Amino acid sequence: MQKGKYYGKFGGCYIPEILVATFEELIDEFNKIKNDKQFQEDYQNLMSTFSCRPTPLYFAENLTKHFNGAKIYIKREDLNHTGSHKLNNVMGQGLLIKRMGKTRVIAETGAGQHGVATATMAAKFGLDCTIYMGEVDVMRQRPNVFWMEQLGATVVPVCEGSRTLKDAINEAFRDWVANMDDTHYALGTACGPAPFPEMVTFFQSIIGKETHKQIINFENKLPTKVFACVGGGSNAMGIFSGFLDDKEVELVGVEAGGNGIETAQHAARLASDDASIGIAQGYKTYFLQNSDGQMNETHSVAAGLDYVGVSPILSNLSETGRVRFEAINDEEAIEALSLAVKKEGIVPAMESAHAFGQAFKEAKNSSSDEIIIINQSGRGDKDIFTIADAFKDEKWEKFIKFKAEGYNA
Ligand SMILES: *Cc1c(COP(=O)(O)O)cnc(C)c1O
Repeated sequence: MQKGKYYGKFGGCYIPEILVATFEELIDEFNKIKNDKQFQEDYQNLMSTFSCRPTPLYFAENLTKHFNGAKIYIKREDLNHTGSHKLNNVMGQGLLIKRMGKTRVIAETGAGQHGVATATMAAKFGLDCTIYMGEVDVMRQRPNVFWMEQLGATVVPVCEGSRTLKDAINEAFRDWVANMDDTHYALGTACGPAPFPEMVTFFQSIIGKETHKQIINFENKLPTKVFACVGGGSNAMGIFSGFLDDKEVELVGVEAGGNGIETAQHAARLASDDASIGIAQGYKTYFLQNSDGQMNETHSVAAGLDYVGVSPILSNLSETGRVRFEAINDEEAIEALSLAVKKEGIVPAMESAHAFGQAFKEAKNSSSDEIIIINQSGRGDKDIFTIADAFKDEKWEKFIKFKAEGYNA
């Protein structure tokens, strides 16, 4: 099947014949809920009771003073249940699963955040849940695997290929082909075959809708710029969709520069010249791949940004010039994170810290009548293992050794 929505030359739905009926059912159901007031009400109600919606838009007064430039606002998606924007998408798909009468959900996860969110949704809705995760990631992300299992999910380590996210995605599709009658695949970001890019964006657009209202309430005018980090692109599409039609608002997507885009160790698909257009994992977009179409190894200190593809909607918004793409490297992200903690008492996720890093660079050189908004996609205290390592905290290293040696008393 190659129909399905395109965004310029990107997107589509490249799936095996056997899944066509399943996709048609999903597209049908999605089209029904898009304009269904009752569904919207149920969704809003669920998110305001089970999670923390609307999340606050926070005026970062200390950071604003520190840079002495633009006014800095932060959209607090970190205050969602399970600690990031991911729950917006997962709970929406959960309501959809209930309507379709399916009883089982599967998902892929890299860092484990989407796995935890999906397992949480499955526990709440009483669904069977299987999470596919590369064997390497299972090793690296034990705390998240622990919670997925406590929530009742079966975590399947994938031993194919590089044993990371892309292999987990392939395995999830294989499961879906075998179990499509009772199973829904809750894809975690605005990527993959149609209707997923549009559907995930639809659920995440709650971020942008709220932010638009909130900034008008505070300032009675639109922001100059909106910054969001870009892994697959779901939190970025979520906040950007509130401002896409306001042409005067500049939208900035921030990718992982890793060790620097001049090295091969990064995940900058749209902010570097290293990616090329290809078809993989069911859709057409820019991929970090070699000339044979083999996917490259990518690198970022932020696991959630470390992905070879990118939302086809963002690829198109990059080509049309509506969204500008930048890369922030590991070191810059760590520095921005530390500054946000010290100046504001908030702890951005390592992913979100990339958006902070780029926003900080630009805030300095802006005038005080400009307003910038940063989407804080998640909270960093759950990333303590990564962040304490990145900060090279000696006392933390000692603590890890202490635990490893079995001194539990
Ligand atoms: C997963 C994740 C991301 C990256 O995913 P997108 O689909 O690009 O939003 C960014 N921030 C946090 C906190 C995440 O958990």
